[in-house]
Amino acid sequence: MTIKTAITVAYGDGIGPEIMGATLKILSAANTPIEIETIEVGEKIYLQGITSGIPDNAWESLKRTKVLLKSPITTPQGGGYKSLNVTLRKTLGLFANVRPCIAYAPFVATEHPKMDLVIIRENEEGTYAGIEHRQTEDVYQCLKLVTRPGCERIIHYAFEYAKKFNRKKVTCLTKDNIMKMTDGIFHDVFNEIAKDYPDIQTEHFIIDIGTARVATQPEYFDVIVTSNLYGDILSDVAAQIAGSVGLAGSANIGNHMAMFEAIHGSAPDIAGKKIANPSGLLNAAIQMLIHINQPASAALIENAWLKTLEDGIHTADIFSEKLSKRKVNTDEFADAVIERLGKNPTHFKTVHYQSDISAKITCYGADKKILAKKELVGVDIFIDNPHLTPNELGEKLKQLKSKLSLITITSRGLKIWPNCLIKAPYTAHCSCRFQSSSDLKNLTAISHQEIISLLQQFEELKLDVIKTENLYLYDGKLGFSLAQGQ
Ligand code: NAD
Repeated sequence: MTIKTAITVAYGDGIGPEIMGATLKILSAANTPIEIETIEVGEKIYLQGITSGIPDNAWESLKRTKVLLKSPITTPQGGGYKSLNVTLRKTLGLFANVRPCIAYAPFVATEHPKMDLVIIRENEEGTYAGIEHRQTEDVYQCLKLVTRPGCERIIHYAFEYAKKFNRKKVTCLTKDNIMKMTDGIFHDVFNEIAKDYPDIQTEHFIIDIGTARVATQPEYFDVIVTSNLYGDILSDVAAQIAGSVGLAGSANIGNHMAMFEAIHGSAPDIAGKKIANPSGLLNAAIQMLIHINQPASAALIENAWLKTLEDGIHTADIFSEKLSKRKVNTDEFADAVIERLGKNPTHFKTVHYQSDISAKITCYGADKKILAKKELVGVDIFIDNPHLTPNELGEKLKQLKSKLSLITITSRGLKIWPNCLIKAPYTAHCSCRFQSSSDLKNLTAISHQEIISLLQQFEELKLDVIKTENLYLYDGKLGFSLAQGQ
């Protein structure tokens, strides 16, 4: 008797139930040995007042099966609701988001017939964590946190993925010319880990020109590794130019759990019309079958799906008078794939997955290095400043009694004191930088007490402190950026 693997299934919102119904029908017709536990997550749960969108019994199922096949979810607009996708990825430790974007020319219209790239996106960190604050009447902040172990895990994963799937090149995309620390560490770790994979070609582009190149010459790329938000944007661009966002599936991989979903959203504009393309979710399910060690079922379904595309049986999103033979709805597409189970494509290469393909890639990040010497050498004190000019504020703060000296005042990263270079700077949000020395080469360690004393004096001056950031040296190297113009 075949042992069935338990998986958790969430039907999702919008077109979710339609594409999940079609996908599961194909899996069932292919006799995939899976046992389904269905959970309810998303819009209905949000509207019951559970702001995470996930009830307790859903977590229990996930802990049991460790595998989730999920349709897209509608995140309600407005405050109070956290994105369920982000919660799932972070809570389950799904650090890698793997998004293959492949052209299916000449059957699906695309300008880039040779395109075959995989975007490996960091899935837990960066601005996507959604740590946001309103600091003043007018100023809103989103915190970008990037960790070295987070970078190590995702970059190690990207190289291991390239090795496993016989890909030749890994390209890293960052914006480290501007974000020298957060994107800088991603790039540095990429260079470090690349040395362990001499057979794989490596390169780095700044994300803007890299994205432009993906949009115009996607066939140039093989595996791309990048951070959370960049990867999110880039993979939609890549999926769209490959043919349709409706085609691409994604795997969210952790060391202990995994979630598989289409890359697109719940498409409320076509929900209920039964015209959505189920291929994105079906491709995600194929990745899931590989993950749960059912490579033969994965290949059986993928070959039938490729044959369906070749036979010109297309849903509306990829239908073209020139290339397609029959326009079908979601269910008819599923039936066409089912009719072709056991058949192989004739134009595309028939897919075979080796039996060891499901061997898991486990990445913990490199072993801990010797800790750097960390010295506190100053502080940035941010204030909500409704009325003082930069000079008035500078003069006031120069009078404070402290071992720390006022070095500069900045507004949104630009120096506005001393010697402001612009006529009418924005002054309602100021960062006042105090250091143990004005000479960056002579910074000496201070205690937290110095900062507390400064804060007390700010309070006496009735200055509204909205946050502080400590300035550190790590092994003598600056752990903070300088202001523009400092
Ligand atoms: P979307 O991806 O849902 O839709 C963008 C466009 O692509 C629409 O015109 C839609 O009709 C089309 N499209 C998407 N999937 C298709 C398919 N399978 N077949 C045919 N056409 C398809 O993006 P959106 O409109 O920005 O987002 C809608 C909702 O989805 C939002 O609430 C958003 O938060 C959510 N969302 C969820 C996920 C997820 O659950 N992983 C991902 C992205 C967006």
